[in-house]
Amino acid sequence: MAVIPVPERLLHPMEFPRKLLMGPGPANAPPRVLAAGALPLLGHLHPEFVQIMDDCKSGIQYAFQTENPVTLAISGTGHAAMEAACCNLVEAGDVVLVLCAGIWGHRFADMVDRHDGVVKKLNKPAGETFSLSDIEQGLRAHNPKLLFVTHGESSSTTLQSLEGIGKLCHKFGCLVVVDSVAALGGVPLLQDAWELDVVYTGGQKVLSCPPGASPISFGPAAMKKVKSRKTKIRSFYLDINELANYWGCDGQPRRYHHTGPISNIYTLREALSILAEETLAKCWERHAKCAALLHDGLRQLGLELFVKNPECRLPTVTGIVVPPGVDWKKVADNAMAKYRVEISGGLGATAGKIWRVGLLGYNAEPENVKSVLSALKEGITLQKKSHL
Ligand SMILES: *Cc1c(COP(=O)(O)O)cnc(C)c1O
Repeated sequence: MAVIPVPERLLHPMEFPRKLLMGPGPANAPPRVLAAGALPLLGHLHPEFVQIMDDCKSGIQYAFQTENPVTLAISGTGHAAMEAACCNLVEAGDVVLVLCAGIWGHRFADMVDRHDGVVKKLNKPAGETFSLSDIEQGLRAHNPKLLFVTHGESSSTTLQSLEGIGKLCHKFGCLVVVDSVAALGGVPLLQDAWELDVVYTGGQKVLSCPPGASPISFGPAAMKKVKSRKTKIRSFYLDINELANYWGCDGQPRRYHHTGPISNIYTLREALSILAEETLAKCWERHAKCAALLHDGLRQLGLELFVKNPECRLPTVTGIVVPPGVDWKKVADNAMAKYRVEISGGLGATAGKIWRVGLLGYNAEPENVKSVLSALKEGITLQKKSHL
């Protein structure tokens, strides 16, 4: 006899408001991508599904601009890809230099600590990025085996330039891991040309998929480190050797390791098709244009961008300074209640100080920029009136 009664709410359909997701993620998924997610399931090792995985692999290689054979999607969100980079590359006692210019560096540092790595942090205040000479000093001071850098710091809304970092790290015998969850697809990233050993991203940001499959690529030097580990990788689920086999990257027959998130992989395949049709160059350009449109509109409203140096502004996530006397939350709440438009607040050091507006993939369109600008304008005006 079941003693827990049937939950009454489950006997009714889900409620489904349509929202325009203009925060730092998830973005809205295009109808084509959502439709792909509704296709019938295949088995996780069926030849048709294996073909879809292979298509994803080449799409990720294109998106990352890499020829790395070990290129696949982690079954999980961006954090799982982050954990995969960490658990495969960090052994107890390894010194890891973590560039912290927002929450993501601190979070990776936490993961390194959980794997008994030795964390050394370089810090920058939110809104600023690292120069090559900052990084060189850190490399000289700490002699790390691994460096972690966030490409698009979505909490501080900064874009970290990656050019030169790979070469510099390699001069010091150090590998580099790049978190490009919030940036990839929205700004240039050339994994091979820039010598970036491990790069990962997420599904629900520029790729505009449902969250759940996160592209990652391990270069030859990173795989060499993995193969020469003295200790076992502490995660079975995220062991890159196992994943590389399941994804057909090691030339061996594919074995069951875990059941891939079939529907998520379908949506990723569709999103990568959309990117291939548009081309990377056009996608980067669209994000730059929309960001410029947003920035101009904000200036016209008398609002200030959080990141002062134009070159360090992340086109995919814009930080806007909350003017004195304005409650950021009331503006965001008004936008959601009246227009079903999501505008986010800050995160970490920027909490309470900024709004964050995402221009991610499918949502990076001029009409969405207009919706955000008018929602911001109305919310701020309403508050000023109520103070009179
Ligand atoms: C969103 C984000 C993540 C985490 O992704 P989840 O899918 O939420 O796990 C990691 N890094 C950056 C820079 C992000 O913006």
